[in-house]
Amino acid sequence: MLGLAAAHIPLRQKLYQSVFWLGFVVLAANAPDLDFLPGWFIGDFNRFHHGISHSIGMALIFAVVCAWISRFFTQQTKLVFWVGLLVFLSHLLGDYLGVDRVEPFGAQFLWPLSNEYYLAPFQFFHPVEHGDVGEATNTVFDKIFSMDNVIAAAKEILLVLPLWLITFWLARRG
Ligand SMILES: [Zn+2]
Repeated sequence: MLGLAAAHIPLRQKLYQSVFWLGFVVLAANAPDLDFLPGWFIGDFNRFHHGISHSIGMALIFAVVCAWISRFFTQQTKLVFWVGLLVFLSHLLGDYLGVDRVEPFGAQFLWPLSNEYYLAPFQFFHPVEHGDVGEATNTVFDKIFSMDNVIAAAKEILLVLPLWLITFWLARRG
């Protein structure tokens, strides 16, 4: 929902007029968490989570690569760049405001400018369970698909809904 709200800025109502843009927003909004995949592959799901995959540097690389690929099938490469960048960054904002129970807390949001880990000093969202580094994949998946996480997701939707509604309203006006 944060990704959709962010996508309203460059796309406005265009966002809901093609499956391409909606699909791209879903991809860009979740792209930072693809860092779970290499860990899944080696049986340690959380091994590579929240490193430089969650950074402004990676957001820029993601947007440039997507814009470059998109030039083969669309002329809207600039728009692909801006949507990719803003939506990717919205994921970082969500994680910054989230709860992290796995050390090191937070992520390297400012990489390559800084290697520091950052996390908001207050807990805006409900904790999302996804296991620990070194934990077996089957118990990690039990935690991911738990009732706790359904509640966390529902709370996040309610918290972000007003922001989405405001950007949706502005997009319709503009
Ligand atoms: Zn994330």
